[in-house]
Amino acid sequence: MALKMKFDWPIIGHRQVVRYLETAFINGSIGHAYIFAGPASIGKMSVAKLFAQTLLCERAKSDANVPCNGCSSCNEVRRGTHPDLYTLHRAQGELLPIEKLRSLRSSLSLRPLAGYRKVAIIEEAEYLSPGAANALLKTLEEPSPHTTLILTSSSPDRLMRTISSRCQMLFFSPAKDEDIVQSLIARGTPKQRAIEIAAVASGRQGVALSMMDETAYDDFQNSLSVITRLLTDSPMDRFTIIESILPKSVSSSQDRAWAEETFSRWSLLLRDAVLVSSGMKRSLPSTRKHYVDTIARKHNSAKLNSLLRFCISARKLIQQNVQIRLIFESFALSA
Ligand SMILES: [Zn+2]
Repeated sequence: MALKMKFDWPIIGHRQVVRYLETAFINGSIGHAYIFAGPASIGKMSVAKLFAQTLLCERAKSDANVPCNGCSSCNEVRRGTHPDLYTLHRAQGELLPIEKLRSLRSSLSLRPLAGYRKVAIIEEAEYLSPGAANALLKTLEEPSPHTTLILTSSSPDRLMRTISSRCQMLFFSPAKDEDIVQSLIARGTPKQRAIEIAAVASGRQGVALSMMDETAYDDFQNSLSVITRLLTDSPMDRFTIIESILPKSVSSSQDRAWAEETFSRWSLLLRDAVLVSSGMKRSLPSTRKHYVDTIARKHNSAKLNSLLRFCISARKLIQQNVQIRLIFESFALSA
């Protein structure tokens, strides 16, 4: 008779994905390869690591809750030293080179060193070099037994069709705000702050969890204060404000991620301001309400709407590699 086991994993949302993996695990029908598809910071890597830990856990066949978090295999996975777990990720701004996939392929062809299975996680699999993608395809075409590959991707449509057709694709959707709030409260965050973080995280558990950190939270509050000043100070002052927030270098992908997140936060605040200025009642956390009211007093809803549209299109421009400074200065000019 099957053991009554369950995946009681410390993640927010993704119940369907976890249930699917749990069923496969209990039935012994674990796939050779999966693609975890969904937006950045949504929790794909967290689930991938927990699934890997479960597959390698020494008590997986005997404990009710897996992974057990107590065996030496679990400890090694958490320390990143398990000999049968391979995690591949690209260097920032670069493609994953063929050598890494070749070396992975030869490692996977050997028997597991510690247990019964080898697991490989390939992060951002859409960033494989063409050679690396072909090496991965070969691995998928001749899967060695007891091997599981997990690819994560925020753009699964950019993967080679021959690769994606050989994997089970699992889609990660944003977590519900109330799930995020509950989870943050359970981790010790005060309720009002949890509500505010959930609004900004937009279903991305990685963002929500990172904002539990005091510095990250202050940074978020600061970005709301910045846009409020941008929209209410004199035109001359706006450029000084822009100058003070721009990163020192404006080329790396980290700066682009920062810029995207900034416009994303601003668009959430502007959305609230549009609603308030059109007379809709919004229940907002107090600090957020202060910023929203200040902006809505200064501009009418048509103006706020056009600024909101600017923020949304700004994120596209950032992805298209338009110079960050130019985008922020244009925003300051149109304010
Ligand atoms: Zn364990």
